[in-house]
Amino acid sequence: MINTAQILQRVDLKDLVERHGVELKKSGREWIGLCPFHTDTTPSFTVVPEKGFVHCFACGAHYDAIGFVMQMDGEDFVTACHKLGGSDAGEWARREYRAAPRVLERPPGEVWVPVYPVPEHAPTWAPGVRGKVWNVKRGRWWSMTPSRADAYRDAAGALMAYVLRVEMDDGGKITPAVTWCIGPDGKAQWCLQPLPEPRPLCGLDALAAKPDAPVLVVSGEKCRDKAARLLPMYAVVTWCGGDKGVGKTDWAPLQGRELVLWPDADDSGRGAMLGYVDGSGLLHEGVAQLSHRQACASLRVIDTSGQPKGWDVADAIDAGWTPVQIAGWARSRVRVVDVQPSARVVH
Ligand SMILES: [Zn+2]
Repeated sequence: MINTAQILQRVDLKDLVERHGVELKKSGREWIGLCPFHTDTTPSFTVVPEKGFVHCFACGAHYDAIGFVMQMDGEDFVTACHKLGGSDAGEWARREYRAAPRVLERPPGEVWVPVYPVPEHAPTWAPGVRGKVWNVKRGRWWSMTPSRADAYRDAAGALMAYVLRVEMDDGGKITPAVTWCIGPDGKAQWCLQPLPEPRPLCGLDALAAKPDAPVLVVSGEKCRDKAARLLPMYAVVTWCGGDKGVGKTDWAPLQGRELVLWPDADDSGRGAMLGYVDGSGLLHEGVAQLSHRQACASLRVIDTSGQPKGWDVADAIDAGWTPVQIAGWARSRVRVVDVQPSARVVH
């Protein structure tokens, strides 16, 4: 019988995490470091030995020692317990695991360069299909089954990258970009590596295929996918990286285009589309300012205020709105965006 309470009580959580290659610094009663479950640049990962869990404030990863070993080592529950000394072998297994050096297939932190078009022999990412991606930073493979896989294509339709959506065990989600990268020895594989900045829009192929169509700018790949299917009269685009990714995106392809912005119905969503002024009076540019600077032909926004918080075009489509209903509602809500030049801009 596996006694999980005993395992969790005996385990040295900080030591366990460090043996998995995470450097930790003491912070009060906790330890902090770079999260091994997402590409972390600021230490977001907390180890709380007295409460017996690890937690990432960025990606939401949250595990006890057993869950941590399952996730990091790719083990099932029983094997993870055995590794932590919870088997009949008891101390023997514990000692062996402690003594085992951490073997990396490759050193972490190597330079992997994103390349495209992604070759045809590359494994295809698809919802519900398990795939593996090289975690450049950690120097190891990561297996996952995405619930979404949205392709980013260039104007000619060549595949540049995917943005995946992965539901985590604790109910959180992450949306990593995976790019086809060439490593130091010339080997190419899927890597957990963001698109280089400025990042391409999602929908460049639609922009090119419909050069005279108005452009509907929506927030996120799910909205883009659903709106593109239901509203073929538009070229539908979005950007990656969420509301904070707006400023890291290349908006030049919108030059000369007639834009309609459909913000998510919350402050963050509206700020991403229209920009916002922060507490110190600085303007954080949104899609409106950035595409205006790229000389888009016209700029309109659909007023989503009064809708449920976070409501978006995908919600309307999921609720059964027809293209005619969406167009009618949007017509009653659309207004011209007046972009004011501002001297105090944050990029
Ligand atoms: Zn994380």
